[in-house]
Amino acid sequence: MNLLIMGAPGSGKGTFSSRLKDNYKLAHISTGDIFRKNIKENTALGQEAKSYMDKGLLVPDDLVNRLVLDTLQNLPDGAAGYLLDGYPRTLEQAKAFDEATKGTANEVETVLYMDVPHEVLNKRILGRRTCPKCGEIYNIYFKPTKEENICDSCGNELSYRADDNEESLKTRLHEYDSMTQPVIDFYAAQDKVTTIDADNDFETIWDQIQKALAK
Ligand code: AMP
Repeated sequence: MNLLIMGAPGSGKGTFSSRLKDNYKLAHISTGDIFRKNIKENTALGQEAKSYMDKGLLVPDDLVNRLVLDTLQNLPDGAAGYLLDGYPRTLEQAKAFDEATKGTANEVETVLYMDVPHEVLNKRILGRRTCPKCGEIYNIYFKPTKEENICDSCGNELSYRADDNEESLKTRLHEYDSMTQPVIDFYAAQDKVTTIDADNDFETIWDQIQKALAK
């Protein structure tokens, strides 16, 4: 089973990627994770990717395309397919990947699009608070603490990520939409997209995903 998972920041993509990988024995390929690992290990690929990532830019299509195709050549034994996460990110990447894999065992079968309204993403991301001491995660809208801004578990003051502010989130979501919509349209034209109503609880979302993949 060869899958793509797409979804904006805060859509729950990470959580469901992990469940999908375990449940369907897929090789989880996250291009962002591969770049971060290479940067940490200071490889040539890492050095090249870092120069773009540090500026908040996308890594050039050609480099990402080669990386993904190479990774697919070396899937771990026993993988029943792949779950691509973070790729393709542009229409050019989608076209190149399609051309390279069409009619082969690596052709994309299903695209799972984790759809969550912007106002919910806003609350999920902007409402997120973590305890710097014990790591407990809260949300002022969905999982508030008993006492405002104080960790229920250890009594420490909570903190939030500096880049989780309204203005930067608006830009990130806008960028995400404008880049991914053409990719979704490209796969929709091949009848490969399943939209998951991801503004739901875990089990309801998982149920939708399983039904979509059983088809
Ligand atoms: P992510 O963890 O998916 O948000 O990716 C982190 C960063 O890695 C992005 O901001 C890009 O700079 C780079 N990156 C990851 N995937 C891609 C991709 N498919 N195309 C271009 N750049 C990518």
